[in-house]
Amino acid sequence: MKECCGLFGIFGDAEAVEKTYFGLHSLQHRGQESAGIASSNGEIIQCYTGMGTVRRVFRAGRDIFEKLSNPIAIGHVRYSTAGSSRAINSQPLLAEYSRGQVAVAHNGNLINAPLLRDEYEAHGSIFKSTSDTEIITHLLAKPTHVSNPDTLGHVLNHLQGAYCLLFLFADRIEAARDPYGIRPLCIGQTEQGCHVVASESCAFDAVGAQFICEVEPGEIVKLDKNGLSSRFFVTPGTVTPAHCLFEHIYFAKQNSTFFGENVHEFRKKLGRQLAVEHPVDADVVIPVPDSGTSAAVGYAEQSKIPFDMGLVRSHYVGRTFISPDQRSRELEVKLKLAIVKEVVSGKRVVVVDDSIVRGTTTRGKIRTLRQAGAKQIHMRVSCPPIRFPCFYGVDFPTKEELLAHNRNLKQIKEFLEVDSVGYMSLEGLLNCAALPAENYCTACWNGKYRIPVDFSVNKFSMECYQMQMFDEPDA
Ligand code: SF4
Repeated sequence: MKECCGLFGIFGDAEAVEKTYFGLHSLQHRGQESAGIASSNGEIIQCYTGMGTVRRVFRAGRDIFEKLSNPIAIGHVRYSTAGSSRAINSQPLLAEYSRGQVAVAHNGNLINAPLLRDEYEAHGSIFKSTSDTEIITHLLAKPTHVSNPDTLGHVLNHLQGAYCLLFLFADRIEAARDPYGIRPLCIGQTEQGCHVVASESCAFDAVGAQFICEVEPGEIVKLDKNGLSSRFFVTPGTVTPAHCLFEHIYFAKQNSTFFGENVHEFRKKLGRQLAVEHPVDADVVIPVPDSGTSAAVGYAEQSKIPFDMGLVRSHYVGRTFISPDQRSRELEVKLKLAIVKEVVSGKRVVVVDDSIVRGTTTRGKIRTLRQAGAKQIHMRVSCPPIRFPCFYGVDFPTKEELLAHNRNLKQIKEFLEVDSVGYMSLEGLLNCAALPAENYCTACWNGKYRIPVDFSVNKFSMECYQMQMFDEPDA
């Protein structure tokens, strides 16, 4: 299960490109397939993108920074949820139209992109990528849209799905969030007074900026020489938000704060609630690091069972050389997680994880724990069973591949080969959240999709035969 992307932007800083680089570094957990930075000197936009992690893409260091060195910049890290993992789909996406240049960076998933693309192609438009983001540049360039007094707001009203977007125009950045506020987007300010925008507030820590606020659902925030200004492209209060709870449960960094709450604190609350809902007699609580750690701390606190690190993660395993398929995911997990035998041998172990998707990698971990001598293994999961796929920017497998889709708890316990299994209830999860329950998306747990989805569309819906055949190998 992977997040789609991370965004960072900064206006009016002499070191805008370097700060964007550091901001992207801190957002690397949101996407490792490609990275890029676009910058402007107020008149001309330059852009540099490539395949791999931020460090890899910008390994030439100073040379690239000097070429890009401009006071306005946006950056992007990508994991593909619409379009394949290829250089042509890396962002920011630079385009030129009747109003000049624009670079676009996107986090989310546009569910009507295939339909819009078909319409444009039927009228002769040519697309150079297979991602859903490129359709936005075509919408921006359409003459009837250009003539609208608020072209951008008008264009955003044509999009359906989850999107946080950064637009770099020659003289400004415009940051927009979809009317449901599915993905997070935060505004901050550096000590020097420059405004920054990022998917998560952890990126502000990396550049010495302070969190100011979130971009509201349906809002466009402009960063330019006059500072910050805001406008709404949907009337505020007319759409009930559908924030993605998985951002808080799994994706985001613990030091990030958004949706009105710090991520680590929220996960600890989940752990405590999990211990109330699913108590067990055991000797030690161990997390599946890193995203399960905070919940395990909460579980141990509430249950009074000692917390320890029975699994340790290697942070030095890159994934730039492997594609995001099942085999590579399994290989990645094997390389990344090791058992501390001394912690689990002869013990009754509670393993706390944030979620279980297919279950195959979890079962692999359970088997290794048994081989290391664990006497009993009790699986505790800090979210409800995932039974439905996500169409709003998270790369879940198909419904049939999800462990909990057609299995009851007894079957899940047998599949995982554990002594007991306990999932957080949906009610318990929503009770832990800072906002009222109706403000969150719960589709992957109960199948209630707030924005209607086309079940036949998948991440490769906009691929064409020629592009798949003649693509360049990843750099
Ligand atoms: S379906 Fe699940 S993962 Fe997707 S946006 Fe909703 S809560 Fe998040």
